[in-house]
Amino acid sequence: MRVLALGDVIVETLYSPAVREIARDVEMVISCGDLPSPYLEYIVTLLDKPLYYVMGNHGARGGARERPEGCINLDGQTVNHNGVLLAGLEGSIRYNDAPRYQYTEREMRNKARRLALQLWVNRLRYGRYLDVLVTHSPPFGIHDGSDPAHRGFKSFLNFIDRYHPDYMLHGHVHLYDNRAPRQAVRGHTLIINVYGYKLLDLKTIR
Ligand SMILES: [Zn+2]
Repeated sequence: MRVLALGDVIVETLYSPAVREIARDVEMVISCGDLPSPYLEYIVTLLDKPLYYVMGNHGARGGARERPEGCINLDGQTVNHNGVLLAGLEGSIRYNDAPRYQYTEREMRNKARRLALQLWVNRLRYGRYLDVLVTHSPPFGIHDGSDPAHRGFKSFLNFIDRYHPDYMLHGHVHLYDNRAPRQAVRGHTLIINVYGYKLLDLKTIR
């Protein structure tokens, strides 16, 4: 299944009718956060495909309304989209005293635990917990930064090791250098920093 994944920065060619050509054959759009609502609404309108999102740590950018209309919030949820099992965890590590969409390690661990029941239901119903974990933040030690705002979550490592999704898509870490790594593997999971955009052909690895 072809997927358009978005994160962190507006890509001008996607914010134009050319998006129809670039995202031809895409069956769903996934946003990993920190994008203005009008951008996501534009893309969902032109493609006429479902858009699943998590919020980044920057809630409303550019004074726009915070949550994109006509899009589906994945935070704390699992969704079965035509046989692809998605789950989402929004936000970043807490790094200041205005913690909107910021979570301590402990808070994120609890958010992940609250997903467990839905993941177990998936496992009973479909034989696996999930296919794609969608987050804003990277896991600790993978694509993350050493500064307090860009440190990843250790609880995401535990999540990957316990539920082994095929993919983890995240944003939050800006790539200014084309040579910077944007993919990593841990166990069965391919971890991708979608910064800007990424077209993916989701394959079930198992
Ligand atoms: Zn961010």
